[in-house]
This record gives sequence, structure tokens and C-alpha cells, in this order.
Amino acid sequence: MEHVNHPFDQPLNPHTEWDDPMFRLAQQQFLNAAAIMNLDENIRDRLLFPQRTLLVSFPSRRDDYSEVETVFGYRVQHVLTMGPTKGGIRYHEDVNLGEVSALAMWMTWKCSLMELPFGGAKGGVRINPTLLSRPELQRLTRRYTMEIISMIGPERDIPAPDMGTNEQIMAWMMDTYSQQVGYPVPEIVTGKPVVLGGSLGRAEATGRGLVYLIVEAAGFLNIDLGTSTAVVQGFGNVGANAAKFLEENGVQIIAVSDVSGGLYNANGLSVSALQQYVEQHRSLADCTLGERISNEALLELECDILVPAALQNQITEANAAHIKCRLVAEGANGPTTLEADEILQQRGIFVLPDILGNAGGVTVSYFEWVQGTQNVTWTLEEINRRLHMIMTRAFHRTLLRSQRDRITMRTAALIEGIQRVAEAKLARGVFP
Ligand code: NAD
Repeated sequence: MEHVNHPFDQPLNPHTEWDDPMFRLAQQQFLNAAAIMNLDENIRDRLLFPQRTLLVSFPSRRDDYSEVETVFGYRVQHVLTMGPTKGGIRYHEDVNLGEVSALAMWMTWKCSLMELPFGGAKGGVRINPTLLSRPELQRLTRRYTMEIISMIGPERDIPAPDMGTNEQIMAWMMDTYSQQVGYPVPEIVTGKPVVLGGSLGRAEATGRGLVYLIVEAAGFLNIDLGTSTAVVQGFGNVGANAAKFLEENGVQIIAVSDVSGGLYNANGLSVSALQQYVEQHRSLADCTLGERISNEALLELECDILVPAALQNQITEANAAHIKCRLVAEGANGPTTLEADEILQQRGIFVLPDILGNAGGVTVSYFEWVQGTQNVTWTLEEINRRLHMIMTRAFHRTLLRSQRDRITMRTAALIEGIQRVAEAKLARGVFP
């Protein structure tokens, strides 16, 4: 039968407002999973794009008061079906609408996979935060918060830190929101300082959660962590904490890197010495605790565990055949392209996919939100115990599905996440 174009038929058209390589990666991963699970077509098309998108441009004053720059900011809510939306704020010079939308979509699958009562969201500002002074960052953050204030709220959409943002930025966002409504609202953000109602354990939760999963995966793969080696790309919140907890588990960290390049020592680096160095100097540039190595060469070092914990698009068709590890543990969002995924699979390299690998962050963010909305405080032991339970349960559910259906861990994790959202959408029906 001849295909007749339906008036609403356009979801696969790449020329949408959100188009970007990272958004196409997120859409393609979703479509692959949707095909395998025979997802209802209407639900599939609904989930292919974010439900709400806000793009703002606003002025930001530099310390030299005569200079005002125009800055772009974004907030994207992918799914409004599951509860409030949740997702970090990224400050990076390459941030764009497509990137933020891809990250929002991954947040939906991640929250659903972890069985948290949130839909996915993400925000971003297109600036390089390392070039701004503290007062400049504060002014920019307050203005950005005002620009997106109609979209956020403790029962609507709850921001958190992501690349380039931290607990200080969350504190300024919380203060700005509270000033506007006239009373303190700590639950408006997660990942804020403990003194403002932040949760114990949130700062290191993403790295800690990733290492809980690595321990489970090592058990499955028969890797003895006490005699194994790891390479970590990115030495920020996720990478440095992952390195620290791996070291605590007896793993030798042979290389780490940040945007300035990498450091290598075949006999192992001291994570605490590296952390001290970065605290004092802000980056690993000029650090002499190991041999200098490029980020590209670092990814191809021989090791047992490779942890990409910097940014997207790192393991690609160009280098996937040269990766020499047994386990890729994704701390970053979207570090592996579709083509690279296939190569890793053919080579028998086990992948802990991002939506599972870095879900420890949003899980403890959820704990922070629960503590905030109920005015209770949990101990660190309680938080880590619950985090461990949720991470290991999600790991084993994903592994089971992957083995049963003979699909990759990434596809299995996506299907686990998509399924709950699809069921919820069907249960809520279509309005009007
Ligand atoms: P961060 O800003 O704390 O650290 C980022 C690190 O990556 C820094 O060391 C930076 O120098 C390095 N980096 C930047 N560009 C690089 C490049 N081109 N090559 C190598 N290194 C580079 O950010 P983060 O919060 O640790 O986030 C890292 C990744 O983890 C991101 O993909 C983010 O979306 C993801 N993530 C973070 C959290 C969280 O709780 N912070 C949660 C889930 C996922």
C-alpha cells in the first residue's frame, strides 16, 4: 500500500528545533530500544521530543562594569508524567538546546530505571565557567534562575549540579528562588550545601554509586578488584570520587585526566595527592605527580576498568577498536557513540551504561528532596545503605534482562526505563 503522509507525521524528521548530534544519539538509542520492546507507536512518538522547552537570552555583567555580555540559557523538561521533573544544570561553552534536550531525555530513563518518582529535565548556560570570577558567576546564576523561575519549583522541576556547576551555585539558585517567593525553599534544588538542607553523601554520590556497580560487575566478570587497574577520564565531581572509591576497593588508578590533559603512572597514582593538587591549583595542568599523557592516548591505555567521567562523545568509531579494558563504566552522560557501542559489544567489552552508571547522583538527590519536603535528616550510613540497595537492584534487574533477551546492558537499561514511563503514559491517557 502506498504510504500516505499523515498530517502529524514528522517525528523522525531530523530538522527540528532540537536537532544536534547528541540529541540524535539519544533519539536513536531510544528508537532502537523501542523497536526491540515493540513500544506502542503513539507513546514512542510522544517520548521522542521534550514536552517543554525554554530558551532564554539575557545580559550578564562582567566585573568591569562597562562590559555586558549576552548569554544563552536553557531549561528542558522531557516527561511530565511521572511526578516533578528533575535534572542538573550544566555550565559549558558548547551547551546548546539539542545537548540539553538529550540530557533531559536520558534523565527520564535514568529516574525511571531507578524507580524514582521524577520525569527527566536538564538545564544549561552557554558559558565557560572557569573564565568567570566568583562575583560574575554569582550574578549570572541569579539572573539565569530568574529567567527560568516560571518553570521550576519544588513540586514542578528541581535543578541540581552537573558539569561546571557545584553546591555553591545551587546555594545561589536556592537563595534567588527564596527571595522571589519571600520564604526559604531549600527543596527547590538538590546538591546544595549541607548547612542549607543539602544531603549528606550527595557530593560524592555519583562516583560512589558508580563504584557500587563496578563491584557488582566485577563479581559477574570475575575481575579481582584487588589486583586490577583503572583509568579515569575527567577529574571533577564524578571522576575524582570514582577514583577515590575505586582506590578504597584496592584498584590501582594508573591514569587520570582533566580538560588540560592526563597523568599516567604504571605503578599507580595517589588519588588524595591529586585531589589536594586540584584543590590548590584548580586543574591538573603542570601537575608532576605522573607522566603527561593526552586525553586521546589515555582512553587507549591497557587497564581493567575504564571510567569516562568528563563529557560526551569520547569513545567513538575512531578509537573503540583500540580501547584495551574489560569494563567501561560510564560516569559521564553520552560518552559512547552508537557505532562505538557496537564495536565494544563485538569485542566483548562489558559496558555499564550512563543511565545506570551515573544514577547515584540523582538517587541521592531524590533522598535530599525527600528529606527536605518531609523535614527529616538521614544519617550518612542510612543514605549509603539505601543508595547501595537501589543501585545493586537496578544493576541486577538490567543484567537479568540483558541476558534473558540477549541485548546489551545499554539497551536493557533503556528498556527498563522506557517501560515504566510508557505504562504510566497509557494509564494517564490523553487529555482532552
Ligand atoms: P565537573 O565539572 O565536576 O568535572 C568535569 C571534569 O571533566 C573536569 O575535571 C574537567 O576538567 C574535565 N573535562 C572537561 N572537558 C574535558 C575534555 N575535553 N577532556 C577531558 N576532560 C575534560 O563535572 P561532573 O559533575 O563531574 O560531570 C562529569 C560528567 O558526569 C558529565 O557528563 C555529567 O553530565 C555527568 N554526571 C554528573 C553528575 C553529578 O552528580 N555531578 C551526575 C550524573 C552525571
